Amino acid sequence: MKSIGIEDLINLVKTYKTEGLEKIRKAYDMASVLHEGQFRQSGEPYIIHPLNVAYILAEIHADIDTICAGLLHDTIEDTNVKKEEIEENFNSDVANLVDGVTKISKLNFSNKVDENMANTRKIITGITEDVRIIIIKLADRLHNMRTLQYKKHFKQVENSIETLEIFVPLAYYIGAYRIKTELEDLSLSYIKPDMYKRIEATKLKIELENKDLLLDMTNKIIRILNDSGIPNEIKIRTKNIYGIYRKVIIGQKLSEVHDLLSLKVMVDSIDNCYRTLGMIHKEYHSIDENFKDYIWNPKTNMYRSLHTTVFGPDNKLVQAQIRTFDMDKIASFGLCTYWEINNDGARDLMQKELKEKYQFFKSLIEINSMFGDNREFVNQVKKEVFSDNVYVYTPKGEVIELPLGSTIIDFAYKIHTDVGNKMVGAIVNDKYVNEYYVLKNKDRVFILTDEAAFGPRDNWIDIAQTSTAKKKIREFKIREK
Ligand code: MN
Repeated sequence: MKSIGIEDLINLVKTYKTEGLEKIRKAYDMASVLHEGQFRQSGEPYIIHPLNVAYILAEIHADIDTICAGLLHDTIEDTNVKKEEIEENFNSDVANLVDGVTKISKLNFSNKVDENMANTRKIITGITEDVRIIIIKLADRLHNMRTLQYKKHFKQVENSIETLEIFVPLAYYIGAYRIKTELEDLSLSYIKPDMYKRIEATKLKIELENKDLLLDMTNKIIRILNDSGIPNEIKIRTKNIYGIYRKVIIGQKLSEVHDLLSLKVMVDSIDNCYRTLGMIHKEYHSIDENFKDYIWNPKTNMYRSLHTTVFGPDNKLVQAQIRTFDMDKIASFGLCTYWEINNDGARDLMQKELKEKYQFFKSLIEINSMFGDNREFVNQVKKEVFSDNVYVYTPKGEVIELPLGSTIIDFAYKIHTDVGNKMVGAIVNDKYVNEYYVLKNKDRVFILTDEAAFGPRDNWIDIAQTSTAKKKIREFKIREK
């Protein structure tokens, strides 16, 4: 990895920001003085680490306060500076961000296990206060994972597992796709080094073999779109190693992974996404079963795109992801895209967006309010938020995300308390089901309600999987007494 200096950081920030650069220099100088005499395990001066963290943040166009906080993120923890001093030298935002990141990584509990639980809870609830704290923490983790080769083997594995369990889902939930995929691949390379190398080699071979074919398709599609006057850009997209690994461990052969060869087609408007889809289907035969419309049914982390798999030249399967330029930014950076849209007002926009649109956020707040005990809290979050999910549809076609194992009771209470309390059954994919029915991906769920219903049955509380449903059932029972 090339080593970077403060001028590299300044130059990068200059590409999207003209004011506040002297503040970044000031933060760098302060951090340099404070970390003076400290070294990384690699033998480099410590300041290299916060500088790289700030650089990662600048790559996703973070605002000036966030970059300053990135430079200062380890100072409260590792030097004798106080939060107040940071506030005096900068402002309360920078001070709160550094303090937030510190709280996340340093808590004093006598018991090691409880410490981890409390720590994890802090990370998770940190997102509810200011999502920028989490973004800094993700950048911090990313640089630490990039430099993990200097740690002992057992630490490497421990950190990698933690990264996959906590940081990857967080990156996914806020839509920070690039950070997520890099974290996944780094983790896998330490947990399963042989598997990693094998997949990497095969992937490179397949990509090389198919390079001409993909270029051929790319040029043809560009020509078609240009002829129709549709502004476009096409990129060859490669799937990350961990993504392939997930398919391989469920028994798929590498040659059968349908999105291994993939083109990202970006156009200027939603209308043109569908026109492009039509044109691609006219040119190449499609496989219907792999078609997905995430434009009208966005993923729960706000990812939007059309996915279609077609027979390319030589009958090779190629996936095309069609989206607008704006959707592509969200696909790469998620919530962080707001820095692009409105750098100074981004923080408020991010928090507002989280509250209104991101389903996992509501679950976190709910679980946080229900569990006093750190261990129970963390276990519940792992079960509900960080486990695999099922995605099902309401009758209106809205996508609802629920933890794996959820029942129609969980679905009903997720829609509305009254729907749960008045439920008498449900129709799933046109068939009647009872309350024991466990939801599967893509189920279409219609809850049958009756104004005269008795309310939740006694056994529902045990059948329900989510804390939302359990809480509402309990509340109903208390009111009835
Ligand atoms: Mn750090």
